Amino acid sequence: LAAQGSGGVATYHPVLDQQSLRRLQLGAELETAMADGQISVVFQPIVDTRTADIVSVETLVRWAHPRYGDISPDDFISLAEQIGRIGLLTDHVLDRALDRCRRWLDQDIALSVAVNLSAHCLAEPDIVDRVRRALRHHGVPGELLTLELTEGSVVDDTVRNSTVLADLHALGLRLSMDDFGTGYSSLSQLRLLPIDELKIDKSFVLGMSTSQNESFIARSIVELAHNLGLRVVAEGVEDEVTRDLLTQMGCDKLQGFLVSRPLPEDRLEGWLLARTG
Ligand code: C2E
Ligand code: CA
Ligand code: CA
Ligand code: CA
Repeated sequence: LAAQGSGGVATYHPVLDQQSLRRLQLGAELETAMADGQISVVFQPIVDTRTADIVSVETLVRWAHPRYGDISPDDFISLAEQIGRIGLLTDHVLDRALDRCRRWLDQDIALSVAVNLSAHCLAEPDIVDRVRRALRHHGVPGELLTLELTEGSVVDDTVRNSTVLADLHALGLRLSMDDFGTGYSSLSQLRLLPIDELKIDKSFVLGMSTSQNESFIARSIVELAHNLGLRVVAEGVEDEVTRDLLTQMGCDKLQGFLVSRPLPEDRLEGWLLARTG
């Protein structure tokens, strides 16, 4: 439907094909879906590599569509971006994440939550205000929120030339660079940005147990992160061999099916109880 250029200007094709029509329809349904509770979130635990303690959960959005079934976020995030609904969706996910965090705080559990922030959101003029208001609304300290950004979004000129990352960071929250290794950020950019953490993209992590090359890339990212004073997380950890390799490399945190799949809220509670005994 819309080919998005780097400048954020959409060019529309004159003829709508079947796929475009469906996207258009889904887009129109997204708002109703949120109101109807079709959009939910799941939480995936992130653990400390050394102690295996849970340190955080990543919030991942889900859409249970009444006719099409479960739609992957990989499909509807870009759609929401194209039709200008990503801000709405992000606010919804942030609200769910901070609500969960607040209820843990009420039980004296200081567990941080991570939320994915799409590149489009960084360009929204009121994004810092919205995050600040959401934190205040739920009474959650900024320190307990991590925003995961993709490499592409932070090397974008408009983002680099703005103060948005510094302003978000000033709220006390952590900034994590997601899918690291798949984008184009240069070392000098990494040094200049107020980033706290790198997340090794799962495409490297998934291949580690079978490929020396992938292992070498992961090791390089761990070393790079530590040399820059950043923490490093590996996502997509599915087996023990990979976990042990990452442990030897000094990777700080682990996330993946080996630890836990993303869980709906009630099952996460059960998982936490089982772990803490
Ligand atoms: P991501 O941020 O890189 O999230 C990690 C993805 O890897 C998730 O897919 C997760 O379910 C999956 N995953 C976790 N552990 C493993 C593992 O051990 N093996 C494998 N093969 N996969 C694993 P999911 O939930 O389908 O999300 C896909 C992408 O959609 C996310 O990638 C993120 O870019 C985007 N996304 C999800 N929720 C949101 C959201 O609320 N806002 C925005 N802007 N993007 C979101
Ligand atoms: Ca992420
Ligand atoms: Ca990722
Ligand atoms: Ca990804």
